[in-house]
Amino acid sequence: MSLSQIIQDKIEATGPISIADYMELALAHPEYGYYTTNEPFGTDGDFITAPEISQIFGELLGLWCVDMWQRMEGGPIALVELGPGRGTLMQDILRATRNMGDFHDHLTIHMVESSPKLSTIQYQRLRNEHPRIEWIDQFEQVPKNKPALVIANEFFDALPIKQHVKTPDGIQERLVGYNDEADEFEFVLGNAGLSLAKGGGVMKDGTIIESCPLAKQITGEIAAHINAQGGAGLFIDYGYLGDAHQDTLQAVRNHAFAPVLKDPGKADITAHVDFRTLMEVAENQGVMAHGTISQGTFLLRLGAEVRAEKLLRTASPEQAEYILTGLKRLISPHEMGELFKVMSICSNHALVPAGFSHVSYE
Ligand code: SAH
Repeated sequence: MSLSQIIQDKIEATGPISIADYMELALAHPEYGYYTTNEPFGTDGDFITAPEISQIFGELLGLWCVDMWQRMEGGPIALVELGPGRGTLMQDILRATRNMGDFHDHLTIHMVESSPKLSTIQYQRLRNEHPRIEWIDQFEQVPKNKPALVIANEFFDALPIKQHVKTPDGIQERLVGYNDEADEFEFVLGNAGLSLAKGGGVMKDGTIIESCPLAKQITGEIAAHINAQGGAGLFIDYGYLGDAHQDTLQAVRNHAFAPVLKDPGKADITAHVDFRTLMEVAENQGVMAHGTISQGTFLLRLGAEVRAEKLLRTASPEQAEYILTGLKRLISPHEMGELFKVMSICSNHALVPAGFSHVSYE
């Protein structure tokens, strides 16, 4: 049995499926899903993420956490990471903050991971890094009795999205069907009838509208926790701050784009994150949202260059080369610096998270 066959059977039994269902199966099917069967990150994998490029990324995020914690007046705190991949980011955060006062003494750590394979990799890497670290598969399982610092790097872009298309007959959902003759999956349109509250009337026919119900739900849960208990969130992702009126669905295999509907389970499928919607969802729960700013700006304001200089002092020539190339990849506008955006949410409306204020960091 292959995942293609499973999806094909499902479509034949009940008709075309939503893009969200297709993504969910392709990424998370318990036997054949991409994150279930692969360890996709790093130079040998299909793509490389910021924490895998340079330790500076996680170290600066660690400092951001300690700064936030101190400015919120310390005390017990839940450090939560969503979708921790290989666990590199948390490892760098913990190493960089180990000697920062008694931060570690106040922590409980909660790794939110849906893939059993990746949780095992994270566990092996991190089990000895802190006495109170646990693995859960949903944010809702984080204890509700204390403030939380919630970190998510390239998490929201992996959540299943839906697409709708503006047509002369109204808004129709874009679904995944199966073309028997061509023997391949194809996009088809569902029934008409949905009317959109915003913007629906002025869009051109053919416009694709994306939505990510799960991203909204999880952001709402995080913001509600932070509003009730205090805390902050930091979300970093490939995304935009505008209307979600474009098709951003993409698949990546071996560091190159691949067709989204070909070989489900073999490629990573993502969509760009609609940050404006997430900021609105968070603010509706009563927290303050900040950003977005570009990853490059954010890391430079947190002191990426100073950190690199410090590492260079004790580096061999090869290490120096690696440190400088990594830093450039993270911050250069031609690489990740501009494409990746950072948003933050915070319970304290008077507190501007580090990196988000022009006045204090430039
Ligand atoms: N943050 C990591 C990995 C990003 S890839 C890094 O920067 O390298 C996306 C991660 O989110 C993977 O660990 C994947 O298994 C996890 N994931 C995807 N959907 C999830 C969900 N609904 N709940 C929890 N984890 C999820």
